[in-house]
Amino acid sequence: MDRKTKTTNGKVAVIATVLLLATGALAVADMPIVLDSIEPAPLSAAEEASILFLREEEKLARDVYLALNDIWQYRVFENIARSEQQHMDSMLSLIDRYNLEDPALTPGKFTDPELQALYDTLVERGAESLEEALRVGALIEEVDIEDLVVDMAAADNEDIDAIYDSLLRASYNHLRAFVSQIDRFYDDYEPSVLSGEQYDEIIGSTSSAPRGWRG
Ligand code: MN
Ligand code: MN
Repeated sequence: MDRKTKTTNGKVAVIATVLLLATGALAVADMPIVLDSIEPAPLSAAEEASILFLREEEKLARDVYLALNDIWQYRVFENIARSEQQHMDSMLSLIDRYNLEDPALTPGKFTDPELQALYDTLVERGAESLEEALRVGALIEEVDIEDLVVDMAAADNEDIDAIYDSLLRASYNHLRAFVSQIDRFYDDYEPSVLSGEQYDEIIGSTSSAPRGWRG
């Protein structure tokens, strides 16, 4: 029995993977989502709060990776920072579409005080060594995955779901990228936010869509 069929929705995950391989349509994690074909629906308070928070959370990832790339000149940070910029753009498209006020400030500055504190802590930690910098990257991706999964479960608007799904797939790729560097050059990476089951499914999957546990 492979690791996919152990999950409750294993068959769904396998079918999704087969479809993915067959169409190739979703193979590019950062493919822009076209919202024109999706009508905006009324926004719940939870959806509004989530959009504003995740706009800044994607910015946190971009800003930390840019800061760590300045320190370490390590290509994985540069590449993933570019991806996070696209995620910020996707979140801005939701902010514009629902006429919300964009909370995003200049690089390294955050409207949300918790994200400001997290940014300061993570950059300080990532400056200690390249290993710590890579571990900071993996931690950020774990947090992003956790938050996206929780917020997707609470959101019912189709446009929000489509964008969060694309961000989630990219975070799987980013987590795998950081973990592969850590495992290759340093000690094993142990997840600190995701469950062991979630983590194993993401790391063990070669596609960007391990959806079996998402429910
Ligand atoms: Mn992202
Ligand atoms: Mn990411």
